[in-house]
Amino acid sequence: MSGIIERDGVLYVDGVRVSELAQSVPTPFYVYSSQRIIDKFKTLQSSFAEHYHGLKDPIIAYACKANSHLAILKLLAEHGAGADVVTGGELRKALLAGIDPQKIVFSGVGKTDAEIRTALESGILQINVESRPEVEEIARIAEAMDVVAHIAFRINPNVDAGTHAKITTGKKENKFGIPNDEILELYQWAYAHDHLSPRGLSVHIGSQLTNLEPYRKAFRALAAQTREILDAGMPLDVLDIGGGIGIIYTDEISPCTDVYADIVQETLGDLDVQIVMEPGRYIVGDAGALISQVTYVKKNNSGRNYIILDAGMNDLLRPALYDTVHPICCVDNHGRAPFVADIVGPICETGDTFVKDKTLPEVERGEYLAICSSGAYGAVMASQYNTRSIPAEVIVYGKTHHVIRKARDFEAMVEDEIIPKFGQGLVTRPL
Ligand SMILES: *Cc1c(COP(=O)(O)O)cnc(C)c1O
Repeated sequence: MSGIIERDGVLYVDGVRVSELAQSVPTPFYVYSSQRIIDKFKTLQSSFAEHYHGLKDPIIAYACKANSHLAILKLLAEHGAGADVVTGGELRKALLAGIDPQKIVFSGVGKTDAEIRTALESGILQINVESRPEVEEIARIAEAMDVVAHIAFRINPNVDAGTHAKITTGKKENKFGIPNDEILELYQWAYAHDHLSPRGLSVHIGSQLTNLEPYRKAFRALAAQTREILDAGMPLDVLDIGGGIGIIYTDEISPCTDVYADIVQETLGDLDVQIVMEPGRYIVGDAGALISQVTYVKKNNSGRNYIILDAGMNDLLRPALYDTVHPICCVDNHGRAPFVADIVGPICETGDTFVKDKTLPEVERGEYLAICSSGAYGAVMASQYNTRSIPAEVIVYGKTHHVIRKARDFEAMVEDEIIPKFGQGLVTRPL
């Protein structure tokens, strides 16, 4: 049994009972199914094996920002994944986890000089360039280092991905990518430069796409731009089609990776290129859950009920940031009457609400709830807000669980805070 699955009212992760995990790991903690992560990776791989007929196998460059835990990167590296990184830190983690540099692409609108240098030293496949000043800076640094920088230009296809405004990236008013009418000239400029080697184009229109149609438009734009460059007599070997494939949170329809691969075949299949894709959420999103204990059940005279958890928006920011509703269930549901409540965290903000008017079995103080589909953009966005620890993380591999991050104790949380000497009477650390 793989993944996070409820059977007869009991929640399991790869066959391990969550309520048993919660006996040994203090809540709140994230738990991941390694089997689910591998299954998702392989599903995408086999969709392309069957539906895409290019000359080369696509590179699946996992978007590390969805969940950059080294254990997860290592698991994916062992199955042949590449990486899409957006900072020097992510790049170093991907290398540390053993991901092949020739399968690493570096995206992002604000790469610093230090990050560009790290990228050039590591021999990654390419830097995905997002602006004219960026490519000028890469050229300058490559020249100073006396190396040739392999780059791709990220196009902005002006396509609406139809997702939440905060995670839509492919419209012309978004900060990402380069407008179509500037690409050819920039590509020519780079091609003529001794220290730049433009090898292709990239596109990424947004995240959590459940309707795949916007991809068709974006990839058509990519194909048109590719032909322009080839017609101008320049080489183009790599097309990076980005990430964004959605998962199920509530009532979405799960996008089919076969259809996704069909769209790639239809729009880009006749081009002799190396396809790179950058899925993040799709790989890890539904392979993770945040496990939390009920601190109080509060019943107001007005008739509103609140289930107050020991997990809050500092552990899982998505509901507060993107208005997302995650599926929430009891880890052990032993047939109780239904009850409607708002499920909230302990943080002093009204936004610290996971879901309103949720129907659950009448839960009791001390029992455990699972906030599911939180493997992506969960732990990586955790903070110490309210001086709370960032949550622990656990992965189930085979039949056993491994704690892959411990919760921080108080000492660790204050360790890097420095108190200067403010006159008399104030002590400096240690407290
Ligand atoms: C965030 C991001 C991704 C991954 O998006 P998902 O929705 O998690 O698949 C891929 N590529 C780029 C450039 C990104 O910024």
